[in-house]
Amino acid sequence: MTQQDKLISPAPTTDFSPWAEQDQEPLVQFRNVTKRFGSFVAVDNVSLNIYQREFFALLGPSGCGKTTLMRMLAGFETPTSGEIIVDGKNIVDVAPDKRPINMMFQSYALFPHMTVEQNVAFGLHRSGGPAKSEIEDRTNRMLKLVQLEPFAKRKPNQLSGGQKQRVALARALARSPKILLLDEPLAALDKKLREQTQFELMNIQEELGLTFLIVTHDQQEAMTVSSRIGVMRAGQLQQIGTPGEVYEYPQTGFVADFIGDTSLFEIEIVGQEGDFTVAKWNGAEAPVYLRALDDNPVDPAAKFLSVRPEKVTVSREQPTDAPNAFKGKVVDIAYTGSQSVYHVELSPGVTIKALDTNRLRLVASSITWNDEVWVSWRARSGVVFQS
Ligand code: ATP
Repeated sequence: MTQQDKLISPAPTTDFSPWAEQDQEPLVQFRNVTKRFGSFVAVDNVSLNIYQREFFALLGPSGCGKTTLMRMLAGFETPTSGEIIVDGKNIVDVAPDKRPINMMFQSYALFPHMTVEQNVAFGLHRSGGPAKSEIEDRTNRMLKLVQLEPFAKRKPNQLSGGQKQRVALARALARSPKILLLDEPLAALDKKLREQTQFELMNIQEELGLTFLIVTHDQQEAMTVSSRIGVMRAGQLQQIGTPGEVYEYPQTGFVADFIGDTSLFEIEIVGQEGDFTVAKWNGAEAPVYLRALDDNPVDPAAKFLSVRPEKVTVSREQPTDAPNAFKGKVVDIAYTGSQSVYHVELSPGVTIKALDTNRLRLVASSITWNDEVWVSWRARSGVVFQS
């Protein structure tokens, strides 16, 4: 079965990293972890494995519990129930500074009166810690890694936001943690710097061979940096998978909508025509066709259909070769320079989004507001789910 073939039914959630060896033990295991604040359940019976050298992203809307889950791993919160196993040991009762884990905070929390190198070396000066020469050595290595050697003698107020972020990263890495936790690490940076820093983070993670766990509500960031993503909603993990899996095979309408852009429709499966499953839907009077496959049939109980904008073609002429082709009216166009997203009304109040990359300058198609157009997509381009 090819990846394409699996499009119509959700992929099973495999809590296993494609980066891990078959018999590899997870480095981190959350086992049925729940956290309550009074009667409020912030994290609800979460089980998750994270493997060595993974860059794992916890993604979800504000308040879904992702920071609380991370803080329990760091030791700043204690689970109400459940176990957190690191390297085979339950660490729930281990003090934060005794865990092989370091956390980089969103605020960076740099000491304003210390220089860059003093900030980086700060966590290394402790009784039983490394010798002075080793501290100097490690500090220099970290400054080199984040390309801040020329700024070693500056104070934080003499640095840009991106440079401060790199000092905080160097300081968090200097103690050689096995696991680095990053809480919205790039939130303070502008878009360009954010994108550049995402690649730097990936390179550093790969170079040091560490395990990174990042918390973010930015789906683009999670997709770019991570090897796997856990999508959270209301304290629960809705889906775990590689960026490609959660994007192409979302298991719920929430995941489909949260990861990327999509159009969601209500459907009712009504029959079968050869290889195609036929569904009534709220987009048009004509049915919508879904592609069934012998080993991965369309779920007969499916109630929702998701179609990504880039899978939908918009045209003036009626397409002759697409099983799903519907007439509609352009009610909105979002032009972003590199692409245009057309909002096409199919029936009163029901629209579908179609993305067109602006390969030719000046919107070659010249499709505009109120135009009558056709939208079409392949039967396999739809993904269905029950909720
Ligand atoms: P954000 O992206 O906004 O940081 P989040 O997904 O990281 O959100 P959490 O910080 O984990 O969310 O919070 C989850 C829920 O738990 C929220 O509703 C929050 O108000 C609540 N919560 C977090 N910490 C406490 C606390 N110490 N006492 C009471 N409620 C808390």
